[in-house]
Amino acid sequence: MDGVSGQVGRTALVTGASRGIGQAIAARLAAEGGMVIVHFGTDESGAAATVEAVERAGGAARAVRAELGVDGDVETLFAGVEDCLSGRPLDILVNNAAAAPAGPLGATTRAEFDRLFAVNVRAPYFIVERALPLLRDGGRIITISSVATRMANSAQTSFAMTKAAVETMSRTLANQLGPRGITVNAVAPGATRTAANGAVFDVPGLAEQITALTALDRLGGPDDVADVVAFLASDAARWITGQVIDASGGLFLGPRV
Ligand code: NAP
Repeated sequence: MDGVSGQVGRTALVTGASRGIGQAIAARLAAEGGMVIVHFGTDESGAAATVEAVERAGGAARAVRAELGVDGDVETLFAGVEDCLSGRPLDILVNNAAAAPAGPLGATTRAEFDRLFAVNVRAPYFIVERALPLLRDGGRIITISSVATRMANSAQTSFAMTKAAVETMSRTLANQLGPRGITVNAVAPGATRTAANGAVFDVPGLAEQITALTALDRLGGPDDVADVVAFLASDAARWITGQVIDASGGLFLGPRV
């Protein structure tokens, strides 16, 4: 397997890999071998399915449970991660886990707001901090954002704020970690149909409405996003850092004529 610095058998940690986009990222990163640490919060059977998908794709995998957004979350996660790595360095960190939008201004409680920031912002920030001593020079940090940061969707204000925070985190850390050859980027999916959220898009007319706003004229799938993450994780993307890569098929670019 081509590593970020040409080494064989990369190691990767993907948070929130028990379903959806995280599951696809884990399987995609394993396509050429290596080991993927499959983090999950509660969905043990989903994580087991991801481990199987990684193995089918040609890689090795182990699942690590840790609830994010609570005291001790990062310590719990990295106790498992260090056990999986057994002294090997980490090549790729993908911060994918996130809590879903909590509603518009007026419908989000303080507790929901705090939880959203604890899971979507505080956890990835301290995961990066804790991962740095394990991360190989020339490694990769990729955080999943959302097109919500560039679209004014009032139903998702607090969620969009969390994603704007991790985009800023990626840009500033790119400068800090550049001397180690570590690239730090964000990937912003648009409307992405997964097995878990499929019902949302079954609301009559919604899929058609979103498709009509998308330049490439369809909804996204987890593999559309996973391929972009895999590219950023590859040696071919060594000169890209501090960027937000839109992976939405051109959602809401402007009027389509
Ligand atoms: P999803 O189906 O909701 O899956 C979320 C994953 O994160 C699950 O593996 C879940 O683990 C984990 N997770 C969530 N909260 C957690 C917590 N507190 N502690 C530990 N794990 C937690 O998500 P998705 O739709 O695949 O989205 C993946 C990423 O893409 C997210 O960052 C999301 O914001 C972003 N995104 C998605 C879309 C979309 O349309 N799907 C659009 C834009 C951006 P357990 O279930 O095991 O607890």
